[in-house]
Amino acid sequence: MQIMKGKPVCGGVAEGKLFYLKRGGRQVLRVSVDDAAHEHERMSAAREKALNELKALYDKALPEVGEQGAMIFEIHQMMVEDEDYRESIENIINTQSVNAEYAVSVTKENFAKMFSEMEDPYMRERAADVRDVSDRLINCLAGGQGLTGPETPAIIAADDLTPSETVQLDKEKILAFATSGGSTNSHTAILARTMGIPAIIGLGESLAAEMHGADAVADGNTGELYIEPDEESLAALRDKKRLADEHKALLEEYKGKPNVTLDGREVLLYSNIGNPSELGLVLQNDSGGIGLFRSEFIFLESEDFPTEEQQFQIYKTVAQTMAGKRVVFRTLDIGADKQIGYFKLDKEENPALGIRGLRLCIERPAIFKTQLRALLRASSFGKAAIMFPMVSSAWEIEAARAALEEAKAELSSEGVLYDRDIEFGIMIETPAAALISGELAPLVDFFSVGTNDLTQYALAVDRQNHKAERYCDTHHEAVLRLIELSAKNAHAHGKWIGICGELAGDLSLTERFLRMGIDELSVSPAKTLELRRLIRELDLTATVAKTAAQ
Ligand code: PEP
Ligand code: MG
Repeated sequence: MQIMKGKPVCGGVAEGKLFYLKRGGRQVLRVSVDDAAHEHERMSAAREKALNELKALYDKALPEVGEQGAMIFEIHQMMVEDEDYRESIENIINTQSVNAEYAVSVTKENFAKMFSEMEDPYMRERAADVRDVSDRLINCLAGGQGLTGPETPAIIAADDLTPSETVQLDKEKILAFATSGGSTNSHTAILARTMGIPAIIGLGESLAAEMHGADAVADGNTGELYIEPDEESLAALRDKKRLADEHKALLEEYKGKPNVTLDGREVLLYSNIGNPSELGLVLQNDSGGIGLFRSEFIFLESEDFPTEEQQFQIYKTVAQTMAGKRVVFRTLDIGADKQIGYFKLDKEENPALGIRGLRLCIERPAIFKTQLRALLRASSFGKAAIMFPMVSSAWEIEAARAALEEAKAELSSEGVLYDRDIEFGIMIETPAAALISGELAPLVDFFSVGTNDLTQYALAVDRQNHKAERYCDTHHEAVLRLIELSAKNAHAHGKWIGICGELAGDLSLTERFLRMGIDELSVSPAKTLELRRLIRELDLTATVAKTAAQ
């Protein structure tokens, strides 16, 4: 048995034979030509053929992946006709007296390099599209046929897959995709997700053509590819597959449906993430937004303080990808269990009660400012909200507000765009914040209850201490009443309230939360549809206050 690890881009487990895609491996030779006009004619015929193929691919993709997914083939058509791209090919033929294939191949490398060096991650991804379009043209010049896939359903493996290859293959014959290269935001990954086919990318060199025909299992949830799995692993994977299939059925039944109870109460169902690589899961599970973006993971994964620009690029990707759906960015929540060497924090006797979350940001204003500027800049690319963790007093909110206003003023004077109406919220994670939520509500736009910490602080049980687990009753009335009080106070001031701690996904509490008037539940993306199913089955006969949330 061999287990390879890559990046998961679409969940699900598939078992079958591995089919390693072999392309013609067309080699492009540099041939000197006397008749440039003839090369231009060949080029124009190839362009027409490529355009027809791309139109056909668009038509094939449309029912399979929808307008959004199929759009890539319209973009490819535009690339074929792009003036700069055409001119580059023509100039190379004219100035170097070479064959059209060679001119396309040089243009491909030049344009791909140019895209891959761009700052915008979306534009960088376009390098793969230029390669795809150029290879199609080269293939058309050589009168080539399309690629041949497997005759019976199989796990498709390849060094990389272009969007056109992904769509061109017969969907009925694809159990999963597994590639050596690729990136999570590439169109191939997006298409795989749209088709709902388990997919793993970035498996590296160990995925080899020699594996063609081997028995394999692709786990699109973990990103693991098993070659010739042993009995024990196979049994565990089949179990997982059963669960994954059930989830898929859920997806098919509940995707696109509103989160409305039988008596008409609408609930916002959002996701918790800590990294843009999880955005695929958020979209795949039809989440309505992001209720908690744990920004500290950017800092935890970094060797030194991430710069404003680095942070901005990440927040922008998240805001842009969510395309107008609300993204609640939580500011840095370092300290307690999340320690970072380069912060050089003082050693504390009780770090969970020390300088953590917003307290740390108040103590280290420069770090705070950098993050707030980056978040504000990203806010003009979507619907962002900023949320502050670990609040216990009103003055801390005022300090956070002052820092935000300072960052806004700086950006305004620099002429940098940001959302002037960006929502400002706090987490309810301390009993103090819950108890004085009536005084805190007028200072903010929303509350989000961090039940993990609220439980820890209300019950005085260290959330990290396994030995104390029996003292940590997550359904403890003390915690539930603190949440209820916060909801009552939020609504009394016309503010919305969500829950983003683990308890939000506890199905045995959903009804109670909704009866309290909780407006939003933010859970791990994979929980979304289960929760939606339950919400749609609930009937809240008691009257529950409607709120300002939307
Ligand atoms: C919480 O405390 O419930 C929460 C969501 O924050 P974290 O788990 O990141 O502390
Ligand atoms: Mg917390």
